[in-house]
Amino acid sequence: MLQNVASIQPITTNRPTLASKVKSALATAMQQHTVRKTVICKGIGIHSGADVTLKIKPTAADAGFIFVRTDLTANNRVPARWDTVIDTSMCTKIANNEGVSVSTIEHLMAAFRAVGIHNALIEIDGPEVPIMDGSSIEFIRAIQQGGGIKPLSKPLKQIRILKPIHVLQDKGQAWLLPANESRISIYFDGFGRFSTSWTFDYFPEEDDFTTLLSEARTFGFLEDGNKLRAMGLARGASLGNTIVIDEDQIMNDGGLRYEDEFVRHKILDAYGDLMLAGVRLIGHFHGHNSGHGLNNQILRALFDDLDAWTYA
Ligand SMILES: [Zn+2]
Repeated sequence: MLQNVASIQPITTNRPTLASKVKSALATAMQQHTVRKTVICKGIGIHSGADVTLKIKPTAADAGFIFVRTDLTANNRVPARWDTVIDTSMCTKIANNEGVSVSTIEHLMAAFRAVGIHNALIEIDGPEVPIMDGSSIEFIRAIQQGGGIKPLSKPLKQIRILKPIHVLQDKGQAWLLPANESRISIYFDGFGRFSTSWTFDYFPEEDDFTTLLSEARTFGFLEDGNKLRAMGLARGASLGNTIVIDEDQIMNDGGLRYEDEFVRHKILDAYGDLMLAGVRLIGHFHGHNSGHGLNNQILRALFDDLDAWTYA
């Protein structure tokens, strides 16, 4: 049946103005989100070398991130929060009160930050998140191709940093400073093992995480890999998921994806680890040769000091 011309609305009356578009984009950005549909990622654990299947499922607002170990029948829920982190020596590892753990969660958490997910149920059939290509990009693509994100009916929780927090560990240190935006900067000199150093300063309000950071891979030194394998670790590590450095040579075909891929990966790790705050942090995180240990310590120091933050 032909549509009556009189019933067709002129397009212009329904077209959003730029101002209304910006307003609705901001409103959407400030809502909590989850995945629209279940997303499946398969890979291997970088330390265990075991095959892993991970399913990211939609959940309710304010649920946060809960891992569910489907290889276990009891006590198998592990919340991903700053206060459930039990080990940061090789990766970020979380555990519940019964000691059931999930490790290497950081690149997946960074992918959630990249696509804007604040709540998800993550089913996993083993103790280690698959390493994929060593970065966050394969998780991001899986979520985007699996239907993207779904808004929830609750506003995003945010806190504002009110005073500087500083933590130190070994050769590194980190600060969380008052600022009007959510900013991360990192200085990294490879603990003196490189002849150069890098600084990367990232403003998420202006930049695109997916373009600038999400493909930066994890890295390691060949000699350390041999030691780790002798200890039963790094069994799944390969040139397909790790930048391998032999003295000052990159062993991977094609070399680095970015000239400063190491420091970009450090920023990606920091984003993943800071997601465990469970809230958006309005403030400036600066790391100086920082890693998973300091990323977690700074959240512990922040939430220990009730004068250091406020809900925004
Ligand atoms: Zn990493």
